[in-house]
Amino acid sequence: MRIVLLGAPGAGKGTVAKLLTDYDGSVQISTGDILRNAVKAKTKLGLEAQGYMERGELVPDKLIMDIMEARLREPDCGEGFILDGFPRTIPQAEALRELLKKLSLKVDVVVNLDVPKEVILDRLTTRRTCSNPDCQEIYNIKSKPPTPDGKCIKCGSPAVQRADETVEAITKRLETYNEKTTPLIDFYRKEGLLKSISSLSSEEIVSQIKVAIK
Ligand code: AMP
Repeated sequence: MRIVLLGAPGAGKGTVAKLLTDYDGSVQISTGDILRNAVKAKTKLGLEAQGYMERGELVPDKLIMDIMEARLREPDCGEGFILDGFPRTIPQAEALRELLKKLSLKVDVVVNLDVPKEVILDRLTTRRTCSNPDCQEIYNIKSKPPTPDGKCIKCGSPAVQRADETVEAITKRLETYNEKTTPLIDFYRKEGLLKSISSLSSEEIVSQIKVAIK
């Protein structure tokens, strides 16, 4: 399957993407994970992206498109992909449309995860993420806690609060989302690809997606 997941930070894109990859071997492509790994590894990309990320702003479209063009050409995308956190602006969506044309690929569905703001704020402030770049399992101190000493259940690395999950950065990320990313809902509605889902359960969201792509 080839899916784009839209939704505010904390809407559950990462969790849903992980569940979908277990379903049919499609790969999850999270621009946020790719950028965080680059920041940790202090690569040229990481050094360029770090400031934007810490401020809760978007990384420039050109950098993101370079990453995505290279990533979508990798052989593991042949079975399908779930785009998590990309595209995030109209220019990115237009560039993705051109790139997919070039690769002779089509997106099956664009899923908009429609989650109330109070739920988003609560989820982001209680979220913990595994600090191991190869794992990045997502936890929630209320609903899916890591081990009692704060470690990832899967790999044992510390499960930490992300640098951009302070109240200031979260507020800025939500503003950025409203301004830059919500126009994509109309963009994809006009393309006839949009499916909005307002459930709060990731399992329920996954079943609705499976029905939509049948
Ligand atoms: P995420 O984990 O998807 O919330 O992404 C974390 C941060 O990475 C965002 O706040 C942005 O600074 C940056 N980022 C991730 N994906 C994109 C994108 N498609 N375009 C621009 N910036 C991005």
